[in-house]
Amino acid sequence: MLPEKTLSWGVSRNCMRELSAYGVRRKQEIGADHVYDFALGNPSVLPPAIVNQSIIDIIREEGNTVHAYTTAAGIPSLRAKIADDLNARFDLGIGPDLLYISTGAAAALTASLHGVIIPGDEVICLAPFFTEYRVFSECAGAQVVVVPPAEDFSLNLDGIRAALTDRTKALIINSPNNPSGAVVSAEELNQLGDLLREQEAKTGSTIYLISDEPYREIVYDGFEYACPLNYYDDSIMCYSFSKALSVPGERIGYFAVNPKMNDAANVYASLVGAARGLGYVNPPALFQRVIERSLGSYSDVSEYKTNRDILCNGLRELGYEFVEPQGAFYLFMKALEPDALAFSERAKKYELLLPASNDFGCEGYVRISYCVARSTIENSMPAFKALMESYR
Ligand code: PLP
Repeated sequence: MLPEKTLSWGVSRNCMRELSAYGVRRKQEIGADHVYDFALGNPSVLPPAIVNQSIIDIIREEGNTVHAYTTAAGIPSLRAKIADDLNARFDLGIGPDLLYISTGAAAALTASLHGVIIPGDEVICLAPFFTEYRVFSECAGAQVVVVPPAEDFSLNLDGIRAALTDRTKALIINSPNNPSGAVVSAEELNQLGDLLREQEAKTGSTIYLISDEPYREIVYDGFEYACPLNYYDDSIMCYSFSKALSVPGERIGYFAVNPKMNDAANVYASLVGAARGLGYVNPPALFQRVIERSLGSYSDVSEYKTNRDILCNGLRELGYEFVEPQGAFYLFMKALEPDALAFSERAKKYELLLPASNDFGCEGYVRISYCVARSTIENSMPAFKALMESYR
């Protein structure tokens, strides 16, 4: 007998991965230039030069010792440097003792959830949300409570209020958001903080705000990332270098426990214990050193803004409906029929690979990842036009 849950996560369809695999096959059949692959969130902009230069320098200077285990929580000097960076940028007052280097945001999120969840607790996910939140939360023993989106993808505070119960243990927030591109404002965070504090006072139980923020450096048009840890004490930051440094395959990020949290040291210890139990110790040694040398450098994320503008202008002209993304590199577009899966299937006929929104916790949309070559966006417009015409 195999565990039902893990088996179901292993065999269940993942729209993005399926589409991406289809895309690989299709590109072999008709040539890569003829397939408009918007399926995945793999950064298209190269990492800054310091990343590759650091790899070379580290190997030259440190030789093979670089491949040894590091301390479980990450190299102390790196943790200290990241703490300094967070304090300078967001005034968190955090020390390295509350910071843990992880294999990307995925490990930071799972350690955070496993570190606070007791089976039967509820985790609130705000639709549309990163598909893996459901698996991460359920794997930690939680029940997922989905809050439907507001029309403009701003924070649905009434929906959150309605979703809170005395079993709510955590709420995951993701700004800028994958897949909507929405950025949560300081004012919204203030209101969310008040709401969660009120609920905590009512039930006497802590609600952890888990802030998943791999896109916080990718924000456009004067919108600003506001740091949730400054608006609510019982909060945990999960960060990844995958997106703004363009190194998703290198698996490096961290979690940071808000020093203003009551019992922060114990919560941190529980998250560290969870990471240990999950086997997430000793993050990649080479890339810890690379991050230590490159911290503060980013890919040229302005490329994504240009992509966004070309995509939005083109789609708007064709009559597609969407809320213009304020950050990250995804556009969440209304499908031309209520069944987003059917729309995604029809788009494939025009060589457009657009994952349906069902896995993101809501229906009726597709996600377009515009972290692709500019030519893919420009050349895809006739296909989007033909797709639109097929519905007339
Ligand atoms: N959270 C969000 C919102 C994401 O979009 C992703 C990856 O696409 C992750 C977490 C996982 O990031 P990582 O590659 O650092 O594990």
